[in-house]
Amino acid sequence: MQQYRQKTKSDGAVTLADLERAGLSLTVHCRQCGHWSEVLPAALALPMEQEIPGLDGVFRCSICSSRDSCAMPLYPRKKPGNGE
Ligand SMILES: [Zn+2]
Repeated sequence: MQQYRQKTKSDGAVTLADLERAGLSLTVHCRQCGHWSEVLPAALALPMEQEIPGLDGVFRCSICSSRDSCAMPLYPRKKPGNGE
């Protein structure tokens, strides 16, 4: 029997509200030109229950105007020696 560790919450995707609560921002990446930028969840005109994986294609790149974008949480750098 394998034991599964839960990464975040039991109910799947991370939402904007989760980031807001954790004090994290979001990075939006353009797949066309590689441009990315950091945005605060609260600065978006989106519902806080919006799931991060659902943000694919929502943003338009300010450099190349492509909508081939994706978003992901900007996690702080891992600390070394995090005893796992
Ligand atoms: Zn771009």
